[in-house]
Amino acid sequence: DLRNLYLAPIDKQKIWAMVRKKARSQQKRVLVTGGAGFVGSHLVDRLMLMGEYVICIDNYFTGRRSNVEHWEGHPNFELVRHDVEYEYTAEVDQIYHLACPASPPHYQYNPIKTLKTSSLGTINMLELAKKVKARFLLTSTSEVYGDPEVHPQKEEYWGHVNPIGPRACYDEGKRVAETLTYAYHRHDNVDVRVARIFNTFGPRMNENDGRVVSNFILQALKNEPITIYGSGTQTRSFQYVHDLVDGLMALMNNEFKLPVNLGNPDEYTIAQFAEYIRNEINKNSIIKNLNATEDDPQRRQPDITRAKNEIHWQPAFTVKQGIQETVEYFKINLPSL
Ligand code: NAD
Ligand code: UDP
Repeated sequence: DLRNLYLAPIDKQKIWAMVRKKARSQQKRVLVTGGAGFVGSHLVDRLMLMGEYVICIDNYFTGRRSNVEHWEGHPNFELVRHDVEYEYTAEVDQIYHLACPASPPHYQYNPIKTLKTSSLGTINMLELAKKVKARFLLTSTSEVYGDPEVHPQKEEYWGHVNPIGPRACYDEGKRVAETLTYAYHRHDNVDVRVARIFNTFGPRMNENDGRVVSNFILQALKNEPITIYGSGTQTRSFQYVHDLVDGLMALMNNEFKLPVNLGNPDEYTIAQFAEYIRNEINKNSIIKNLNATEDDPQRRQPDITRAKNEIHWQPAFTVKQGIQETVEYFKINLPSL
């Protein structure tokens, strides 16, 4: 079971022996931007095990070499330190464009850099796709719907985003990235895919990520107060990372070109979720309400009808399974716990 690979220190010999052997002519050359990050590194694992040739580029802003170091030295793997704000060229068949900080504290740390990553970075990757005739997949986000007025969110909904608020660098950055993607499709015939990803969690989330799932798990494990921002009535729907990777690959290898929501419709209020984590991990945890953050979306749940019909994908893991494995991961990998 591949999922157990990261639950103990990875045995490089063992994982290399699992790589499928493919003739050069059968092998795809795949570029993964942001491949040393949380989602990117799981995608790299899957592509490598399938026997593809993988080039991973990352500037290590929120990602870490250690997430992919078990592939360093493998003949099918290249790791390149590169910032997507600048041009990059390689002969590839597919581009998964993930590079962009995803957690609010990280994308708000330097909003101008976040905007450059989403705008210039996406232009650079689309130019590359155009030049080498690669298929291009953008990892967009449920944040393009902003603080939604419709529930659950379907892909046809145009969104409700504050263009000048603290979240705008990310939301509007991704909106322009989508606009660029379809502009290159219409004008230059680039073959494109767009995934709108809803809240995703799992092993390899950075200890300092700041998103709700890793914050709550780590707070409970460290016996620190579980921090709810605001009243906790706002909702989110959580998907386990392995479902997302399946969805990204299903979308990339399908002919459907319009945006597709990838998420698990299992919706919780943040207060319910805090209770749930307390019950699962540490019944002595205190739950503490802090100030609400500005423009925090109040409800979020994906309508995944399109994903089911067009790419034949739906989540297979429950939140409970995902939380158990993520807790396991943190216990093994954070010696301070
Ligand atoms: P992450 O922060 O762990 O990964 C992002 C990666 O991109 C990191 O390795 C980072 O170092 C790299 N990066 C950032 N700016 C870069 C730049 N200018 N040049 C090169 N590399 C750069 O986040 P993640 O959760 O793995 O998210 C991956 C993608 O999925 C992002 O595009 C994000 O917007 C999208 N997404 C994620 C979620 C989620 O819940 N995880 C939800 C919606 C969308
Ligand atoms: N949140 C919280 N406590 C935390 C971190 C986040 O209550 O320690 C809330 C946050 O205000 C939001 C939800 O949890 O309503 C999801 O936040 P996250 O940063 O994970 O992702 P978002 O969906 O907002 O991008």
